[in-house]
Order: sequence, then structure tokens, then C-alpha cells
Amino acid sequence: MTDPTDLLRNIFGFSAFRGVQGDVVARVMSGADTLAVMPTGAGKSLCYQLPSVALEGTCIVISPLIALMHDQLRAAEAVGIRAATLTSADDNRAETIARFRGGELDLLYVAPERASSGHFRELLESAKIALFAIDEAHCVSEWGHDFRPDYRLLRPLLDNFPDVPRLALTATADAHTRADILEQLGIEPGGLIVAGFDRPNIRYAISPRTNTTQQLADFIIDNPGPGIVYAPTRAQTERLAEALTRTGRPTRAYHAGLEPAVRARNQADFVASEDMVICATVAFGMGIDKPDVRFVAHAGIPKSIEAYYQETGRAGRDGDPAVAHLFWGADDFARARQRIGEVEPARQSGERARLTALGALVETAGCRRAILLRHFGEDPPERCGNCDNCLNPPKAVDASVAAQKFLSAVFRTGQMFGAGYIESILLGKSSERSMTNGHESLSVWGIINGEEAALIKPVSRALLLRDALRTNPHGGLEFGPAAKAILKGEARVELVLPPARAKRRRRGRVT
Ligand code: ADP
Ligand code: ZN
Repeated sequence: MTDPTDLLRNIFGFSAFRGVQGDVVARVMSGADTLAVMPTGAGKSLCYQLPSVALEGTCIVISPLIALMHDQLRAAEAVGIRAATLTSADDNRAETIARFRGGELDLLYVAPERASSGHFRELLESAKIALFAIDEAHCVSEWGHDFRPDYRLLRPLLDNFPDVPRLALTATADAHTRADILEQLGIEPGGLIVAGFDRPNIRYAISPRTNTTQQLADFIIDNPGPGIVYAPTRAQTERLAEALTRTGRPTRAYHAGLEPAVRARNQADFVASEDMVICATVAFGMGIDKPDVRFVAHAGIPKSIEAYYQETGRAGRDGDPAVAHLFWGADDFARARQRIGEVEPARQSGERARLTALGALVETAGCRRAILLRHFGEDPPERCGNCDNCLNPPKAVDASVAAQKFLSAVFRTGQMFGAGYIESILLGKSSERSMTNGHESLSVWGIINGEEAALIKPVSRALLLRDALRTNPHGGLEFGPAAKAILKGEARVELVLPPARAKRRRRGRVT
């Protein structure tokens, strides 16, 4: 058999394996089943591409997105690997099948739904299969953040070919999800290989939103080079792209609702550009090979720590310094909680745990990287020296009393008013509304003054994040399940306040 390092050099032009690649390839070549957990950019595709050339027969690659498959097909063909995709979007299916039967394919990319079809199984039996590679393998787990029922159809197919090795690949899997993937795909626990997750060149920072557009504009001005701004909605990507052009940088929007031609052009322009800012929904970035992305900014919270890691991981793949900045609002958490209420009951506790973990990352006074890496099962140092909290340690204050005052004010005014009004009650700021409502005689009227006043906004954010407060459809605040323990003094509310620093000069308002 050909030496893997020769193939690595001759086919891919790389002088050495990166990280765990060598281990994974060796296992695959020896016929063992493997789950490789490797962060984005670690070079997962090579782990099956190289064996597909070295081993006799075809490697079947299961991949969830047709667009992704076509990108990978192009990349594989570019280095001379004999590859094809077999999807509903391909009109050369007959030719592909003939090539497969004739043993002329190293790689055959298919979507998981094909796995259940009897035709497909028969097809696979008609030629030699070298390997099953299951890409984005976390999709098989209900614990994963992206469960796809189709992935459950794979196991019976794999079991039909007991002698063919299995290689599952994912960038994102916490310990629980990993164990589940192993079980679902019938891979023994000893087959787990996990790469290091640290991306030391990425500087992480997280701060509350005050004025999204202005904050992003300041951020962009501070950070030259191409970058991605993730926004939660299509409309917002367009609004931001429009507003941020006023920073002088070329900006584009990218989302699934754009005309395919416009989308393709925006993506191509971004890939070619050295200073463009692309405002996109999270669909953007998958399968894009642009190593010099200098920053990823989030205008709202991602779905989970896994998603955060994956999305921020699109920055700095060339190893040069890059920045990931998340701007969050309490309403992000409220909306996420509402969405969780709408998913099927069996998945709610997993989703809730994911949101809580994300809340802890957002609220920590400690090292962001340490939280991320611990989440992926690593044992990192307490401080990384390259995140906002390490570089500029925030002050942690006990705001339990202010939180109690805030909750009392919400309660005494009937759980129907918004945060701004509650703040005016607490500060004793008289208005026509407070007079008409008779709220000026409440015990909470003007109960907060002096230094505590600065805590009101962060406290209301913290209470929303903890589900001690919820927002009703009219914007009014009402108690959530965590309110009681705080009011009774059983749960403390610790706040992380940004370090005092010189007021920043604003370079040109954009809003
Ligand atoms: P992933 O799928 O894990 O995100 P890719 O397979 O897309 O990563 O690989 C990321 C980049 O790293 C690609 O540009 C690839 O060519 C490159 N790469 C992969 N393996 C090596 C290696 N051993 N040496 C150098 N570059 C590599
Ligand atoms: Zn740190």
C-alpha cells in the first residue's frame, strides 16, 4: 500500500499531517471505526479523501447539504481525486452510477435521505466500498444542535456492510453528543479522536448591546480587513449592510432570500476582497474557504456555544490575529426561550441546557476561552490572556439588592410595564404616567439613587437572561420562574460590569 505521507505530499502538496489528521488516517486505513471531532479548519476532509485514494474501492461520503457537497467535489477534483455527487440536483446521475459500478470513483458524495432507499443499497452492493465517511455527524444526535432525522437512516445501511470501516466527522460535539454519536453510529468508544479546540489567534470579546449599529460601526473601524457580521434576521443583514457602508468600508448583505445571482456575487466579492464587511445570516460561511477573515461579529446571540465556536471559527484560519466580538441583548435570550417553548417537548431540556451554557459564557467575569474549551472537554488554563476579560478584567459586583428592588417594582406596578418605566419608578422620576397610575406613592418609588442607579440597566438585563423576568407581547415585564428565589434572597445576582475606561471617541455617527 502507498505510504500516506507520500500521498499527502504528492496529491495534496502538504508536507505533514496537521494535528490529529495522521492518527485519524492511520485508523481508517487499518479498517477501524472512528469518530473524529475536529474544529473547523482542522482539515477534516483530508481524513477521508486521502484514504479514498489509498484504499481499493469507493469512499461513500454522507453530507447534509448539497451546496457543501458541490464545494467539496470541486476541491477534491482540483487535486485530481476521482469524485462525484449523487443528488437530486445532479443531472449526470446515470453517468455517475456507471463510473461507480466501474470502480472509477474514489469518492461518492450522497445526502443522508438516499441511505434509506433500497435502490441505493443495491447500488452500493454492486461495487466495492472502501469506507463510509459521515460528515457533520452531530446531525445524528438529538443532543446535537442540528439534529436531522435522516441521519438515523444511516445505521441500518452501515450495518449492512459490516466489513466497511466508518469514519464519523464533526466540528462540534460536547461530551454528551459525542457519546450519542458513537452509540447511534455503532462506533466503539475507543474510536473517538478529539483534536485540540483552541484557536489561540482569535481574541474573544462579548458585550451588551446598547446601540447595535453604532457599536458595530466603531468595531469595524477598529478592525481592518475582511470580516463577517452575523445578524439574526434577513432584514437586519440588509439594514446593517446599508448602515455600515457609512464607515467607508465596502459592505454587502448575504442571506438565503437574495436572488441566487446576487448571493453568489456577494460571496465571490467577499472571498476576493481584502476589506469587505459582509452582513449575513449564519448560513453564510459554511464551505467558504477564505482563510484571511479578520473578524466575526455577532449582532445577536448564536444558538449555542457550539454554534458560537463554529461561527467565530471562520475568523483567522490563516493563523494571524483575528477578533470575535459578540453583542448581546437580554431580548435575545427571551426570544430564544420562547422558541424553545415551541419545539417538541423531548428536545426542550437539551435546548434549555444549551441556552444556559451560552448565558454563562456571556455573563462570566472569567476567561471566555477557558469556558469554551471546558465546554469541549478540555482542561485549559484559568486565563488565556487573549480575551476581553483577561485583557481587561471586569468588576464583579453583588447586585442582589438592586435586583430585588427591580423585581419589587415590577410586581407592585402589576407586571405590565416595560423596563424604561420601571427604571423611572425606581429613580423616582415623576411623569404624567406615574402620577395617573398612582405609582408615586409606592414603597419602591425613588428607592434607588446614587451609585446603585448605574446598576439598573445591567440588572434588568441579568434578570431577563436568568428568566427571572419575561417580556410579554406588549413589551411589559412579568415574573419568570427564577424571580421568586431572587426576591426571597435565596439566589444571588452577581453582575459583571465592564472595566472603567476612558470614554471612547466616536468616529462619525452612523445612526
Ligand atoms: P474542515 O473541514 O475541518 O473545516 P478543511 O478540510 O476544509 O477543514 O481544511 C481546511 C484547510 O486546511 C483547507 O484549505 C485544507 O486544504 C487545509 N489543510 C488540510 N490539511 C492540511 C495539512 N495537513 N497541511 C496544510 N494544510 C492543510
Ligand atoms: Zn481569556
